[in-house]
Order: sequence, then structure tokens, then C-alpha cells
Amino acid sequence: MKKIVRILSISLFIAALAASGSRFHPRAIAAPPDSRNIAQPGNTQNDLSAVQKPPGVKPIIQLVPLGKVKKEHIDLLVRTIDEIYAVEVLIVPRSEFPAAAYVRAGKRWMADPVLELLDRMKPPQALKMIGLTDEDLCAATEKSPTWGILGIGMLNGSSCVVSTWRLGARFNNPRMPELLSKVVAHELGHTFNLLHCPDRSCVMQDASGTIRSLDHEKAFCPACQRTLGALLRPDSAYAHWSENQ
Ligand SMILES: [Zn+2]
Ligand SMILES: [Zn+2]
Repeated sequence: MKKIVRILSISLFIAALAASGSRFHPRAIAAPPDSRNIAQPGNTQNDLSAVQKPPGVKPIIQLVPLGKVKKEHIDLLVRTIDEIYAVEVLIVPRSEFPAAAYVRAGKRWMADPVLELLDRMKPPQALKMIGLTDEDLCAATEKSPTWGILGIGMLNGSSCVVSTWRLGARFNNPRMPELLSKVVAHELGHTFNLLHCPDRSCVMQDASGTIRSLDHEKAFCPACQRTLGALLRPDSAYAHWSENQ
């Protein structure tokens, strides 16, 4: 059974936008803000053996556009990952969602089958897979069987998926790129074996509190940086912890 480790939910997005103008982190409307599900404690040692490459060769993250997704969002995600992680991002042709993943009532897609699809698509040369969609994603939580999410990643797994739907992309939220960056840093972080972090300033925090919890996230804390090791770009904004304290 795969460990699904994070669900970011921001159904309060519309309300947050209305209330705070340019506030960027919408978290929850009808429910607690960020219900990133905590991972089951598993192997906390990051196995980076798969990243061992000849000098100068970066590990490959394969980006899979899913369903409807704008090219500008694909380009943004490539730039965003490149700013955070020392990896090479390869874009593959767009895929359709698994038909069985569709939740007609909420017009959204269950994330589990999407992660399974990404796992199946993963070529041996890719370290991780990341799906990107402009459509709405959901996952079963204690709150709802079809809880809307921003993204989800597997602890020490092969795949994660993120959606711009609840980031305000369709409303031209000016803070969407910043939000997407934190979501991607977090979800890929889970695939790199990062659990949720108790430090509220850390990108890996479990933001189960308020709608503004993402605003507290500044960088990876030293402990999370140690786990990421060489995967975190030293010049990434998320590697500058001391400057944020
Ligand atoms: Zn998480
Ligand atoms: Zn941390």
C-alpha cells in the first residue's frame, strides 16, 4: 500500500481571494485549510542511491501534463523545479486521466489512480515522476471521500502530482507561481523521503492549521536540507534558512 503523504486543500480559495486581495495562500473553504495528510512514519533515511550519477549528470524528473493544462503552466513548473532541485526536468507528451479516476459529482479527479498511472509510466532513467494538471484533484480523507487537494506525493515513492486548479490559476491569482513553488517543493520533498516537519517555517510543515499556513513557509529547515542533500540546489531560495529566521 502506497503511503500518500500530503494533501493540501484550499477550498477557501475564493473566499480568501475576496478577503485578502493578493493573499496567496488560499487553503480551505468548507473545511480546515490544509489537510496535508501526515505520512505514515516509514523509512526516514533518504535513500539517494538512485541519484548517484556520473559527475555533471543530474537526476531526471519526468513531467507528465495531465488532462487540460496550459503550456505556460508546464513551463512555469519546469522553471520552478529547476529553481529548487538539482535535477533535470523532461517533459513528455500529455496524458489523459484514467477514466475511472473521474468523480462526476465534483468534476474532479481522484489522485490515487493518477499516482498509479505515473508509477506505471516511469522509465528506469527517471528518478521521479511529477504530474501537472489545471483540472481539480481530490483524495479520500477523514473529511470527505473526494477532498479537493493541491497536490499529493508518495513518501519515498516515485510519483507526485500537483494541480493549479485551487491555486487560482483560472482567476489569474498573481501569487499562483509562489504557491505552486511551495506545493511542488513539498510534494517532491515527500518523494525524496521527507516527512512532515514540525517547524512552521519549513516548507515541509504539515499545515493543518489556518488558511495562511503556507505564508509561514520560508525554506527547508536544516534537518530537511540534510535529508535532501545534494538534491537541493544551494542557490535555491529554500536553501537559505538562516535568512528567514
Ligand atoms: Zn505533505
Ligand atoms: Zn523541515
